[in-house]
Amino acid sequence: MKPEQTIHAGGCACGQLTFRASGEPRRVGLCHCMTCRKVSGSAFNAFAVFSADQVEIDGRFERWSAGQTVRCFCPVCASRAFSLEGDEIEIGLGAFDEPSTFRPTYEAWVPRREHWLATGGLTAYQKNRSDG
Ligand SMILES: [Zn+2]
Ligand SMILES: [Zn+2]
Repeated sequence: MKPEQTIHAGGCACGQLTFRASGEPRRVGLCHCMTCRKVSGSAFNAFAVFSADQVEIDGRFERWSAGQTVRCFCPVCASRAFSLEGDEIEIGLGAFDEPSTFRPTYEAWVPRREHWLATGGLTAYQKNRSDG
């Protein structure tokens, strides 16, 4: 990790699980898929994806694997701060200490999007971004 890079810090609600992401994310997006809806308890998931080697994690976490994604959450307060997939880590925008640091540029699983939710101007994918 290069010391001059910007550090984006964050963590869970109770504070025992924290992370420090160095530099800028590979991409920032939204997902409306059923798994993201269910695990978040929210209508959609907003996240920033970093290379795993950009992020340092401190604290304990539990895991739940769904497909290729390992969703990680705090065993104390149940916040789902991040997910692991391959060589990438996906961090929920709400887990960062500073709001409005990142702006999504795309959204996945658009047919699942709530009808009242306006997300104009984002690149839209019918399913996962990688499914084309
Ligand atoms: Zn916690
Ligand atoms: Zn999803």
